[in-house]
This record gives sequence, C-alpha cells and structure tokens, in this order.
Amino acid sequence: MRIAVISDIHANREALDAVLSSLPQVDEVWCLGDIVGYGADPLYCLDVARESGWVMLKGNHDEAVVNPAVLSWFNSAARRAAIWTAKQLDISRITFLRSLPAKRLYKGYLLVHGSPRDPLYEYILDSATAGIVIRSIVDMICWHGHTHVPGMFELTASGIRHFYALGEFAVGNAMLVNPGSVGQPRDGDPRASFAIFDTETRVVEFRRVEYDIEKAANKIAKAGLPTFLAQRLFSGI
Ligand code: ZN
Repeated sequence: MRIAVISDIHANREALDAVLSSLPQVDEVWCLGDIVGYGADPLYCLDVARESGWVMLKGNHDEAVVNPAVLSWFNSAARRAAIWTAKQLDISRITFLRSLPAKRLYKGYLLVHGSPRDPLYEYILDSATAGIVIRSIVDMICWHGHTHVPGMFELTASGIRHFYALGEFAVGNAMLVNPGSVGQPRDGDPRASFAIFDTETRVVEFRRVEYDIEKAANKIAKAGLPTFLAQRLFSGI
C-alpha cells in the first residue's frame, strides 16, 4: 500500500490544494490532526477532509475549537484563531471534529497527533523525549505530527538517531515518523511538507511543495486574525 501522510493543515487552503494536486497515486491518506486553527479556510479544509475518506485524527487545535475549556493552554494568537474558527463552524462540522479520535492503531501502525502517552498535547522534538516515547511503543512505527517539523527518530543499539532531511529513508521497527506540516511549516522551509509511505518497501519519502503563500497570508490578514500568523508563513518558522 502506498500512503500519503499529512498533518497540521491549519486551515491553509492553498497549501492543502498544492499538496493534494502533487500527490502520486496513493491508496490512502492519513491525516494526523490540526485541520483547523491559525489559517483562514477552516470550512474548506474540513470539508475536503470529511468528504475524502481519509484516516483522520484530532489535533489540539481541532479540540480547542469544539472545547473552549482547553483554550487556556494556548498562546494568545492561537487562542484568537481558535475562537475565530469556532464562530465559523456549524453543528455538523462541530460534530465531525468531536467524533475524531486522538489516537488510533491502524493496520499495525500507531497514529497520534502529539505523542502516544499524550496524544493531543505532547511535542516530540528532542532525542530525550523521543527515547522515552519510542521505548514505550516497542517494535512499532508511530506516526505523529504537532511539532510542524518533519523527520524520524529511530531506536538503535547506540541510542536514538534523528533523521532530518528531504528524500527517501527506509524505516526500521521502532520509529517515530513526522511528515511535517502542510499549512504552517516551522523548520525554516516555508513549502508545504508531507510524506509518502510505501508499506511494502517500508520506505518513507519526505516531500515539499511550493504554494501561494501570499494568497494564504492575505486571507489571514483580511479575516482579522493576528498578523503574526500571516507573516510566519513566509519564513516557515
Ligand atoms: Zn499544529
């Protein structure tokens, strides 16, 4: 099976469309959460996700727009975006977001937004955290998002190895793999990030595609969302 793994779309229609139109033939799309939040097109991105039959997870921003109790965890720009997003949603989209699982075991792979032990909120950014998490999932590949930084952590005899690069990598047995963010990359490369995974050859390919950043940023400004959320799209940090 060939899978497109995407995450952290963040209501960025231009980035989502660019990724989807660049996809090779795939059997499934796995989406690791944060469809909404930050960007100006939550309804479009939600409807694409809902109608496409993707394997879906809930992210912390998806949770925040349907559960205001968690907003206190957010910084002010994220909070303002979540409140703005919540106002756009009708009951059927709210019900859809509420129905998403935070974590799922799917065809032998563990899928989470943040981490297996804290699926909505924990960031796996460093080898120390990755080491604790990876030892807890014993011989499994765990796909996660949330950090907006693509890459893989692998448990080897000499410790945790972190791969961070574009291109193709074979995956081992105990690994954490992050496809990066479609709609708000934070690794210094502003292009939309995603991964293609071949379950037979066990090769992950990290890909980037250009999209119309200016258009997405202008919509954020026009919607009255914090200008910082528009500006950061250009730098990818
Ligand atoms: Zn996110």
